[in-house]
Amino acid sequence: MDFRTLIKTYYSSILIFFCLLAFTLFAYSTVETSAKARRERLFEQRVQRVTETIKNRVSDYTQILKGCQSLFYASDSVTYENWKTYIENLNLNVNYPGIQAVAYAAWVPKEEVRLLEAKLRERLNANFTVKSDFQQTHLAPIIYIEPFTGRNLRAFGYDMYSEVKRREAMHRAMTTGQPALTRRVTLVQETHEDVQPGFLLYLPVYANQKSVKTAEDRVRNLRGFVYNPFRARDLMGSVLSNFKDIQVEIYDGNHFAEENLLYASGPNLYAIEEKRRANVEFTSDTTIYTAGTQWRVFASSSETFGSSIERDQPVLVLIVGLAITSLMVIISVNFVRNRKRVLHELMLSREIEKKKDEFIGIASHELKTPLTSIKAYIQLLDRADLRESDRIFVRKANVQIKKLNNLISDLLNVSKIQAGKLQFNIGSFSVKDLVEDSVESVQHLYSSHKIILTSAPLESTVEGDKFRLEQALTNLLVNAIKYSPGNYNVYVSTRIEKGCVVIEVKDEGIGISERSQRHIFEKFYRAEGLSPALSGLGMGLYISNEIIRRHHGKIVVKSAPEKGSVFSIYLPLSSPNPSGGA
Ligand code: ADP
Repeated sequence: MDFRTLIKTYYSSILIFFCLLAFTLFAYSTVETSAKARRERLFEQRVQRVTETIKNRVSDYTQILKGCQSLFYASDSVTYENWKTYIENLNLNVNYPGIQAVAYAAWVPKEEVRLLEAKLRERLNANFTVKSDFQQTHLAPIIYIEPFTGRNLRAFGYDMYSEVKRREAMHRAMTTGQPALTRRVTLVQETHEDVQPGFLLYLPVYANQKSVKTAEDRVRNLRGFVYNPFRARDLMGSVLSNFKDIQVEIYDGNHFAEENLLYASGPNLYAIEEKRRANVEFTSDTTIYTAGTQWRVFASSSETFGSSIERDQPVLVLIVGLAITSLMVIISVNFVRNRKRVLHELMLSREIEKKKDEFIGIASHELKTPLTSIKAYIQLLDRADLRESDRIFVRKANVQIKKLNNLISDLLNVSKIQAGKLQFNIGSFSVKDLVEDSVESVQHLYSSHKIILTSAPLESTVEGDKFRLEQALTNLLVNAIKYSPGNYNVYVSTRIEKGCVVIEVKDEGIGISERSQRHIFEKFYRAEGLSPALSGLGMGLYISNEIIRRHHGKIVVKSAPEKGSVFSIYLPLSSPNPSGGA
């Protein structure tokens, strides 16, 4: 089968395939778009929660520092014990996880540092030394730090004001009186292991808090700083522990650069690595302003972001759609193949039927010629001087020839009907003549039965082919006799009914079942279960029906098994000429 034939044969399957495929793709893209939009909304909400959580945490720590600040405002001399008790009460590890320490740095002029050291050594009964480069006029050494253990001990005595980033934030805090975050630093608490970026949150403590109005007042009255140092990874890890479905990167300041990175929840730095970013479904870039500094938060969706149902839904739609498409295509291809096969078989049976008709036509024609010669020879023989005993054989031969002749004419007629070549010679004649002539010829042949005219035949004139109509009526009469083997009367009547001449032939014979009645006018049909003595080929009613039909009339049968049959020919009174072929 070439390509064009293939397309022509299976165009419906191809159409189904493309329509369903288009529908599937459309459904897939719709579901995919709406699922993506839902995931995007979800992502935006999650990022918003992240930034809010971070801000809230910074504000929580500011509150802690405010508490510490109040401690100093409540007393002129806050001892280390006061401090320790106060911080222990806060229960930092439970209430504020991620905080490295809460500490206090005293604000001391350079020349008073030694005095401070001596005082503290005495008060704490421990070795206390200020660690500073002594470059500034003032120092801010850490004198209280809690918890006073582990890596925090490294910070004890450290002068934060000597380091530039810390100094910048401390200056901001002291001049504004507001909390101030440093830029990214490395805490002095860090050892050589697991070094993390860090930052500090400062709140100034003034000597005379009520009289500080201007920046100068504040600098003049500065007493120290309460502050929190943070290890960024520890802090953010605890703050963002509920956001595993998105990766968060926090950068100090406004630039995505590794040296600014405070925290990254995963191994990849999507904000910096453009190439990797292309594989990420959603990203978000937000800036947080808090405690006088700026953090840039870059969030990206992880591979597991969004519920699995949300993510799998479009693929599911695609799979189901493709499965339905394939199924429908298979069904339609099978349907086309079956239809092709049925059509082929139909064509084949029509072809056989045609061949059969052709054969009947040729055979009947070929039989007719020798039969005519036989008939002529018998006639010659009949005229010869024969003994009476021999003449009986000639008469018997004549009867058989007549039967054979009828059979061949029937076959010829069937063949002509099939070919649409049944000829009609139209003329006017009376119903009476038609009926009487037919009855007479049949009665002459079949003396076994009596054909009774139950009413005087109508005198009405009809138009048509008298020979053909006689042929039809004769066939009904012969059948009435043939199929009434034990009954000897056949009744014929005529009447006018609704503009038609009705010629009725009634017998009291074997009758016809309802099922057979539906088929008796078909070519070569014979009722089932007929006695073998009732010979025939099932052509008579087919030819008769065709003749009457072509005269625009009809044959109606009423019968029941063993109840006899009534065949009625309906012929229109004002019959137009017989119509053309079947
Ligand atoms: P044939 O008589 O050669 O079989 P017909 O076409 O004349 O063919 O009739 C078709 C069939 O109709 C018959 O075989 C017979 O079964 C049924 N038939 C026709 N006329 C009668 C009748 N008067 N009584 C019972 N059966 C009949």
